[in-house]
Amino acid sequence: MTNRTVVVLGGGTGGMVAARRLRRSLDATDRVVLVDRSATYRFAPSFLWVMTGARRPEQISTDRRRLRRSGIEVLEAEVLEIDPAHRKVKTSEAELFYDSLVIALGAELAPDALPGFADAAHNIYTLEGAAAAGAALNRFEGGRLAVVVSRLPYKCPAAPYEAAFLAEALLRRRGARDRTTIDIYTPEPYPMPTAGRVLGDALAAMLAERGITLHPERSVERIDPTTRELVLADGEHVSYDLLLGVPPHRAPEVLRASGLAADSGFLPVERDNLATTAEGVFAIGDATAIPIAGGKFLPKAGVFAEAEAEVVATNIAAELAGRSPTARFDGKGACFVELGDGRAAFAGGDFYAAQAPKIRLRRPGRHWHLAKIAFEKYWMRRWP
Ligand SMILES: Cc1cc2nc3c(=O)[nH]c(=O)nc-3n(C[C@H](O)[C@H](O)[C@H](O)COP(=O)(O)OP(=O)(O)OC[C@H]3O[C@@H](n4cnc5c(N)ncnc54)[C@H](O)[C@@H]3O)c2cc1C
Repeated sequence: MTNRTVVVLGGGTGGMVAARRLRRSLDATDRVVLVDRSATYRFAPSFLWVMTGARRPEQISTDRRRLRRSGIEVLEAEVLEIDPAHRKVKTSEAELFYDSLVIALGAELAPDALPGFADAAHNIYTLEGAAAAGAALNRFEGGRLAVVVSRLPYKCPAAPYEAAFLAEALLRRRGARDRTTIDIYTPEPYPMPTAGRVLGDALAAMLAERGITLHPERSVERIDPTTRELVLADGEHVSYDLLLGVPPHRAPEVLRASGLAADSGFLPVERDNLATTAEGVFAIGDATAIPIAGGKFLPKAGVFAEAEAEVVATNIAAELAGRSPTARFDGKGACFVELGDGRAAFAGGDFYAAQAPKIRLRRPGRHWHLAKIAFEKYWMRRWP
């Protein structure tokens, strides 16, 4: 039998899980090639713990090239072109021909898409930005703290709300809370809208209990760093002293040029097996756009990228071994919502349910926070 090559594009959450699973399941003579532009992997769910000082950056970062020890070929290169017609990928280092391809290139952060964001806001969606936000919160002597969700969609719909809770707790600990107002501006109608109104209202009530003011359906059109003002879509100007922000997201350009993308630039896939329209090509994680009930899309979150990676890797291994691919992604997922003070809530359920996603918010407590720590340890030990 000839040797086969499976190429995985993107070595983040989905790509790393897919590559490891494939390496375990394929024949030793088959190649698994993982391509990422950067050698460093960072565990995003802990970025906000870097903000609070609970983690140092090196505790949640690893070198992807370690995967070479398991027999995965790690290529540090920019993916430049995906050519499904010729089963070929062009990268800055080499051209790769594949038998199967897994696209896990994620969603790109695009701070430039909101004028003023890059100069004015601490970008809590990068490790450096989260660390800088923490330093700024530790210097903050009081004033107007604003948390801004720039555009939809964005990954991890809980994160901006967690940022507000954690910042509130930090400022309270430092004795600066009484002199601070905290406001969240978001285009969403309520927090985590894909999970439904009941859950959104429950989170909004928790924010209110902590004195955090939520401004739903308030889009920020631009930010003026010189006057320290948010300019909202209706023209209102709102002052801030310290700004934490979720930048706009966009699909990686290479996806749009592949001919596989929808208008949004993200990739439509079969929701059960993550197949794209091209033979032998699968897409997982934030790079995909998967419609669910109610005209919504599956949220962009690592929990889905991981589960989808398992399904795709299992099916590719089955197909290459001449068996039928039977693994199915069921649309189930959950996430922790950090609340500060060593407490968290937990939301999860079935995002593929027929009428609307069936998601439950579990009662907050210390145990969910401890469970998130356990999850972080499991993840960092198992995958990177
Ligand atoms: C602050 C924060 C908190 C989060 N918390 C959670 C959480 O608690 N739970 C949860 O489920 N999710 C969470 N997420 C979301 C989660 O991190 C993402 O949804 C998940 O990483 C998506 O996985 P992915 O494999 O699709 O993409 P990614 O993990 O983003 O990986 C994409 C990879 O592709 C590479 N890449 C992209 N384009 C190219 C190119 N052209 N050439 C070469 N390489 C390229 C990138 O370098 C990257 O390594 C959080 C995210 C953030 C920012």
